[in-house]
Amino acid sequence: AKRQGRGNFQFFSPAMNAATHEHLLLENRMWGALHAEDFELYLQAQVELETGRVIGAEVLLRWNDQELGSVEPSRFIPVAEESGMIVPLGDWVLGQTMALLAQWQREGLEDLRLAVNLSARQFSGGTLLSRLDELVAHYGIDPSLMELEITETAAMRDPEATRQLLRQLRTRGFKLAIDDFGTGYSSLAYLKLFAIDRIKIDRGFVKDIEHNQNDAVIVAATIGLAHSLGLTVVAEGVETQAQWGFLRDKHGDEAQGFLFARPMPAGEFREFIRRQAQP
Ligand code: C2E
Ligand code: CA
Ligand code: CA
Ligand code: CA
Repeated sequence: AKRQGRGNFQFFSPAMNAATHEHLLLENRMWGALHAEDFELYLQAQVELETGRVIGAEVLLRWNDQELGSVEPSRFIPVAEESGMIVPLGDWVLGQTMALLAQWQREGLEDLRLAVNLSARQFSGGTLLSRLDELVAHYGIDPSLMELEITETAAMRDPEATRQLLRQLRTRGFKLAIDDFGTGYSSLAYLKLFAIDRIKIDRGFVKDIEHNQNDAVIVAATIGLAHSLGLTVVAEGVETQAQWGFLRDKHGDEAQGFLFARPMPAGEFREFIRRQAQP
């Protein structure tokens, strides 16, 4: 808003108008899309760094709208966060993920883990624990097959409440990961306090690891510190053999990135696993 004089505010610039319009458009279509099942879970493989063996996947939401076509998460997740739509949408993701885990259990793929992204709103809404209990009971899955990814920023909104919630989730057997590590608060002391299982090193540090000495040092030191706190490290956004090699040298634990697999529909992921399992 630009101040033009006493009592005279200009609230909307043309750029803001366009942003507001986009926001309202997406928000409106999102409700319909949820009912029309235009959202879909995509899965991106997570691999053991040493061997490249697939140990699980991260669930990434995709939206293919009947009018707008495919809409990127970077476009619709912020709108969903702001409008509160992320709560029903995130709830849908949790249910679909558990249904998939239950299906895999029936098909004998017992040891694959799925990681889901939790928004700050879901995390601090007060109903997460009971909702997860409900879903676990309904689908009869083992909570240790499910990992919950939260960002540092979400965790640090209310550290004491976070500490308690994470402890309760961990008692249930859920695995816990800090997402986008290094882009938010970044205190390993807090991470220890939070009793989590793994940290995911943000792609921003991995991208130039071969050329940028600072990034290389930060990643190596993060792996070392995390290990000394008993945490597992997942490197995000691994795209090249050289990055993989670097991370292996530094004894990272797991990786995720286009080098190993792109996000893909669940059916394709099933095939991907089947092919991998064959000698
Ligand atoms: P994120 O949780 O950090 O997810 C990783 C993002 O990096 C994904 O983008 C993935 O496709 C992308 N990526 C993976 N490997 C590579 C790589 O090697 N190179 C490059 N350039 N990119 C790679 P995506 O799917 O567009 O998702 C963007 C963000 O949207 C996610 O970032 C996450 O914050 C959010 N998001 C996605 N699905 C959900 C969801 O179900 N719930 C919530 N709350 N957020 C979600
Ligand atoms: Ca994530
Ligand atoms: Ca991430
Ligand atoms: Ca990210």
